[in-house]
Parts: sequence; structure tokens; C-alpha cells
Amino acid sequence: MKQTFWHPFSDMSKLSDREVVLARGQGVWLRDTAGKAYLDATAGLWFANVGHGRDEIASAVAGQLRALAAYSTFDVFGNEPALELSDRLAALSPLPQTAVFLTSGGSDSVDTAAKMARRYWQLCGEPDRTLIIARSDAYHGMHGFGTSLAGISANAEGWGTIVGDVAHVDHSNIQALRAVFDKNKGRIAAFIGEPVIGAGGVRPPSPGYWQEVQKLCVEHEALLIVDEVVTGFGRLGDWFACQHYDIQPDLITTAKGITSGYLPLGAVLVGARVRDALWSEQAGVFRHGYTYSGHPACCAAALVNLDIIEREDLLNRVRDLTGVLAKHLDALQELPVVSQTRSAGLLGAVELSESVAGGRAKAVEDLVARMRGRGVLVRGLVGHSIQLSPPFVITEAELSQLFTVLSEELTEVPITGDERHPVDA
Ligand code: PLP
Repeated sequence: MKQTFWHPFSDMSKLSDREVVLARGQGVWLRDTAGKAYLDATAGLWFANVGHGRDEIASAVAGQLRALAAYSTFDVFGNEPALELSDRLAALSPLPQTAVFLTSGGSDSVDTAAKMARRYWQLCGEPDRTLIIARSDAYHGMHGFGTSLAGISANAEGWGTIVGDVAHVDHSNIQALRAVFDKNKGRIAAFIGEPVIGAGGVRPPSPGYWQEVQKLCVEHEALLIVDEVVTGFGRLGDWFACQHYDIQPDLITTAKGITSGYLPLGAVLVGARVRDALWSEQAGVFRHGYTYSGHPACCAAALVNLDIIEREDLLNRVRDLTGVLAKHLDALQELPVVSQTRSAGLLGAVELSESVAGGRAKAVEDLVARMRGRGVLVRGLVGHSIQLSPPFVITEAELSQLFTVLSEELTEVPITGDERHPVDA
């Protein structure tokens, strides 16, 4: 067997000759090694927010690698990009007196926040508060905590128990959530949720959902962790989605859009409540951190990425494109093959109808492959949906081009009957 690269989230027994090897990127466009062009309709894995091929990020990283490529940030050590980035994130953060814990990505950020939450309660003299509540369809990365907190059952199952003391609740059912809170009085360390469920199908919250969650957390004194790995840094048109939904979490997990994917980096934004407890003399050493926490080159990439978002007013651009994306999605609802479309900011999903012939999973897989053949990269999500989350720099013309191909390919999907207009109705 020639293949040595093990693709993540892949059935390697079925890879055969399907490997797509990408070589270049510019704006929303990618090219593979054969020179074929693709429109990146998902910003990679929801990260390439400022688009591909930004020279100024590459130059800043190169400069930083020459000056100081890496050194530990454990104990007393720091570096200028890490300090500057932390100041900058604290200033952008909606949390009071934010402290910034830098990580290497989203899964690191989730594990870090979960450990902070449990440690917080130990320091508060309530060691029984270890339960973390997560939502159905949630994706919180694939480290220990993230795997156990996963609400996408296929991702959570098959490993045995990794982290115990997690509870799952239907992602939109406030009554069920209230019941879990009531049943576990004095046991709940934190609630964790994505402002808009991402990998679980792009599921925006119902109106008022987050206010109710916030109320329950306050009532039960539980910490609120908002996982903004996808939504942070502008996906919904605000720096953070918790501003969009007007909630005040205790901890915010981020990654992806912090560097637009140019280098791996994550950050946990920690509000005063948790910071004060974990920075107290009584707390001692916080025995947690990563070799590359505060990696100078990654932080240098993040600083320029934030410059670009500000200079090019990309949050306003997202706000302008929000309606355009929603309109294109609305138009697809006319197609019998589409059961539902969903969107929030520059996040969208098209869900296929149950009437698809041969099963929806296969139809999504085929559709994604056919679109790739036509030069548009989309992705299938659990729940039989197609993910759309383009870079913020996509033009309206490029969005139209993407939806023309998507609409044509959706029309080609065979259906056994139109569920919204049954023949015998
Ligand atoms: N949290 C959310 C909401 C995510 O969508 C992801 C990744 O998609 C993660 C955490 C994990 O991030 P990473 O893959 O960088 O570890």
C-alpha cells in the first residue's frame, strides 16, 4: 500500500483514488496539484475567514520565525506577539476583565475551559460540582472532553467512557434543560454550547433560547461556556456570537477564525469570575498548558488577521452578506429535494428531504462529489445537510455562482416523491 497519510475523519478503506491534493489558495479560490480551480464555499473547516493567500500574514509569520520561532510560555516566559495578542483579545472580548489562555486549537480550548470550570468549583469548596451539560448535535472538538461532550452520537461513541460526568440535553428544549438542572442541583459545574450549532447541521437557536440558558445558569450558579470556535471573530457579523445573542458567558472558547487558519491557534477568554478564583494565591499553580500555548508565529498570524478584519471592515461585510446568503437559501426551498434551509450570519445549511431516492447520506456524498467535479467545495454535515460557510471576502457574484451550481446539482438528485406535496393528499 502506497498511502501513508491518514486522513482525519475518513474511511481509509474507501479512499482509493479520491484524494484531492490542494496546492494553492487565493481569496475564495483554491487550486489542486493538477491546476483545477475550486471555490471554497466552506472556508476550509469554517476558518478561512479573511480568505486564502494573504501575503501580509505570510510575511509577518516569516519575520517572526526569523526573530524568535518558538519558546515555552510556561511559568515566567512570554513573547511579544503572545502578550500583544492577549491584550488585543481582552479588548475585543465581551467579558469583564478578560484573561486569555492561548492554546493550539479548538479542541485544546474546549478541554482547557472544561478543566477550568471543574477547577473553579474545587477552589470554591464545592468539589462535587463536576457535571458538564452539553447539547444534542453539539461538536466540541475531538480531545477527551470534546469527545465526551459531543452531541453528535457517531463522534461520541466507540471509545468507551473518556470523560465521565457529562449530561446531554436536546439542543432546543429548554424544559428538558430545566429538568436536568433541577435534577442535578449543586452538581453542575457548567453548561457548554455553540451559539449556532455548526458541525451538527448549522442550527441557529430558537428566539430567546440563550436568554433562558443564561437564566438557568445564573439561578443554579453554574458556569456558562460558550464555544465560539466557529462563530468567534465575525461569522455572525459581531466579533463574538454571544454579543449577537446578548448573553454574558463566563468562558468563551475560540480558535479557527482567530488566525483564519493560517497557523493553528486557539484561545480561551476567561471572565473575572473564573480568573479571580484561578489566579488567587490559594489556587497555586494551574497545572495545565500546551507546548505551543502562545506560539509566537501563530500569535503573529492572529495579529495580522485581526488587522485585516478591522481594516477591511469585514464584520460589516458579513452583515451585508447575511441577507444575500439567506435569500439564496430561501430560493432553494422551492426544490422538492430540499426539506429545510437554515442560516445565521455567513453560516448556512441545506437539508435534503427524506424522499431522496437511495437514502440521504448517499445523496449528500454524491452531491458533494459532483459539486467538487464542477469546482465548488462544499461539505456534508450530519443530519443530511450541505454546509455553506464561505470566507467573508466572497463577492455577491461568487455567491451567485456557488448557488447556481448548487441549485443545478440539487435538481439532479433523484427523489421518490415530494414529501411536501404528496400525490394522495
Ligand atoms: N468547537 C467547535 C464548535 C468546533 O466546530 C470545532 C471544530 O470544528 C472544535 C471545537 C474543535 O476545534 P479543532 O478542530 O481546532 O480542535
